[in-house]
Amino acid sequence: MATTVDTGLTVIRDPASGDEVGRVPQAGPADAAEAIGRAAEAFPGWWETPAAARGAIVRAGAEAVLAQRDELARQLTLEQGKPLREARIEITRFVHTIEHYAGLAKSLRGAYVPNLDVRTHGLVVRRPLGVVVAIVPWNFPTTLLGNKLGPALVCGNTLVAKPAESTPLTTLRIAELMREAGLPDGVFQVITGKGSVLGEALVTDPRVAKVAFTGSTPVGKHVAELAARGVKRVTLELGGSDPMIILDDADVDAAVSAASVGRFFNCGQACLAVKRLYVHERVVDEVVDKLRAKVAKLTLGAGSAEGTMLGPLHSEAQRATLEEQVSDTLARGGELLAGGGRPDGTELEAGWFYEPTLIFEPPHESKVAVEEVFGPALPIWTVRGLGEAIERANASQFGLGSSVWTRDLTAATLAAERLEAGYTWVNSPQIVYDELPFGGFGESGLGKEHGNEALDYYQESKSVVVRQSPR
Ligand code: NAD
Repeated sequence: MATTVDTGLTVIRDPASGDEVGRVPQAGPADAAEAIGRAAEAFPGWWETPAAARGAIVRAGAEAVLAQRDELARQLTLEQGKPLREARIEITRFVHTIEHYAGLAKSLRGAYVPNLDVRTHGLVVRRPLGVVVAIVPWNFPTTLLGNKLGPALVCGNTLVAKPAESTPLTTLRIAELMREAGLPDGVFQVITGKGSVLGEALVTDPRVAKVAFTGSTPVGKHVAELAARGVKRVTLELGGSDPMIILDDADVDAAVSAASVGRFFNCGQACLAVKRLYVHERVVDEVVDKLRAKVAKLTLGAGSAEGTMLGPLHSEAQRATLEEQVSDTLARGGELLAGGGRPDGTELEAGWFYEPTLIFEPPHESKVAVEEVFGPALPIWTVRGLGEAIERANASQFGLGSSVWTRDLTAATLAAERLEAGYTWVNSPQIVYDELPFGGFGESGLGKEHGNEALDYYQESKSVVVRQSPR
């Protein structure tokens, strides 16, 4: 949570208590121009640095972050609200992604095309883009930065990151650690301020070659429009409403466990999260009973408290949106199976807590079905078979992730081919691998992060024709 004070600073607050946990500058257009200037100055030297050396410096940065993992995780919990255990997982994921790309530095390649003509060959040269701006939301402030930082730096770009207003502290500390570990001045900078002011100044600066944005679909569209004016490269990782399908031959215990983690991890504030559950009529009673039992065991509390499994929502606005989505849905139909409100207990009153919530058979046009639900509420519907499940799953403007649980290889293959989403997990929890490209279909995004594919989004290729003698 963040509030502005009149000194040009933003106060960062603990979502579990409202207590102040830090203050950061509220930078404006002049600061944006200065940071971009430093990044542009640093670019030629970083580009000329041998790729192996770039990889080694980036890896040293990742190791420095890992060495401070516990301190960073505590900081992340304080500003974001997530349980300490999940904060540690997040910092570790950041490190793994940066190391993954550091390891690919020596594999950067172009192409050689022989015999284009007599004594003439062609080259496909791949070169960095220049200055990259990374805009990051508050739900996973560090991993979503890492997805951009790793490939951008390894390819030879310099990067200016703008974290969300309410979660800048861990990101600032990571930048400091990576600089101390050897990143040259200007190669990676973090600048803090409002999206509508600082974010726009960064996106529209003519010296910026690419904008890597993660956030909501409406803001992503706006950022893409601004970037288009300068024909800048853009990648967009936006909202989602991932369906999970459980068929009648599924391993129900494993599926229920994945649905519970997939919905309630990070208090439901994840782009890739199980947001709609479609269950075959023959197993729906069993799935519902087992999910209710799991949900009953989720312990709510401050992220820093021992034993907390579900922290607070990140902000008052997040909770208000969720409350509106749930109450509007229940007014139209559906049965409340669990949760549906704020928890009792005075120690939770100061934070933005919300009970883990299950809603059975809400109308397919209700808000929990058609909007992105960014909190701990899961709608469940019965389906008669895979065909109906896929049809329901695809009836969304989003197309980020999806999953299917079945022992039938034919059904799994059909689902993997037909689900309109950038990722489909078959009998697997929603784990994102650095090795595989990730990016949404439809209004969930544009371009890919992760995988070797991410490198394509931080390089430009150009063709060179070489005639060995002028005649
Ligand atoms: P948001 O779109 O409000 O903000 C994201 C970032 O954009 C913040 O840093 C914000 O300051 C900045 N911003 C806001 N207005 C801007 C403007 N006019 N110009 C430039 N920058 C601007 O999103 P949020 O509420 O912080 O994050 C939650 C959303 O992010 C959800 O929709 C979620 O699904 C999505 N998300 C997507 C992914 C993915 O990989 N697809 C991952 C995590 C979160």
